[in-house]
Amino acid sequence: MPLYTTHITGRRWLSSDTFELRFSRPHGFTFLPGQKIGFAGQAPDREYTLLGPSKDSELSICVRLVSQGLFSPRLAGATIGATFQITAATGFFTFKPSPRRAVLIATGTGIAPFVAFARAGVRDFDLLHGVRSDGELYYRSELAPAARRYIPCISGPFKPERVPEAFAGRVDACLDNRFEPGAYDFYLCGRADMIRDVMRLVDQRFEGSFVFSEAFF
Ligand SMILES: Cc1cc2nc3c(=O)[nH]c(=O)nc-3n(C[C@H](O)[C@H](O)[C@H](O)COP(=O)(O)OP(=O)(O)OC[C@H]3O[C@@H](n4cnc5c(N)ncnc54)[C@H](O)[C@@H]3O)c2cc1C
Repeated sequence: MPLYTTHITGRRWLSSDTFELRFSRPHGFTFLPGQKIGFAGQAPDREYTLLGPSKDSELSICVRLVSQGLFSPRLAGATIGATFQITAATGFFTFKPSPRRAVLIATGTGIAPFVAFARAGVRDFDLLHGVRSDGELYYRSELAPAARRYIPCISGPFKPERVPEAFAGRVDACLDNRFEPGAYDFYLCGRADMIRDVMRLVDQRFEGSFVFSEAFF
């Protein structure tokens, strides 16, 4: 697999433990919205989904800092200008247009591929973003207008007046409560236990649906 050299151009904290990292786009580097990269020679098994759009002169990712983690602290602490080698973009978690309604479901930084979809012009989807607090609703102002329905699913305490469109609870409970039985295209990204719980529900209530998934951990 080809490797590309890049350097960090900026970092923006989105919450106390999650940041967006921007880096230069190497000559000849291409990707499809929803694809991911690895950091070669650093921790080759750590992957990060690229945020779009694919025509930008910079690349960016949204990273949760795992404080005891082996690699994310290195991205959080890397100086602007530091160079890295990245892999080519890979993966098949891309948007596939179909006659069925698309329901995108993310937990935490699993929102990244859906930002890429929206920036590539995908519209008319339902989006459920599962978080513990409203401060983790990354890219809300960008995603809400792109979605047909944007539903933050907040499992911890929150002030309803701050997020009037929110569902109090987890994404699987929201899906069970707010969606009629039927055939949908489900795109699931984030925690493996969320993906497992939603797949169980799809088996029970959403006959004829297709499921595409990307587990982060
Ligand atoms: C296909 C794919 C795409 C991914 N894309 C992203 C992305 O866009 N953004 C991103 O932040 N991570 C993403 N990840 C997870 C990422 O690869 C690393 O696992 C993560 O950054 C932790 O690495 P670490 O070495 O710091 O922690 P490790 O030392 O590997 O510790 C791992 C522990 O950290 C926790 N953890 C891992 N990832 C997360 C997370 N995102 N949020 C909360 N807790 C986590 C889990 O409990 C896990 O057991 C992706 C993973 C895969 C497989």
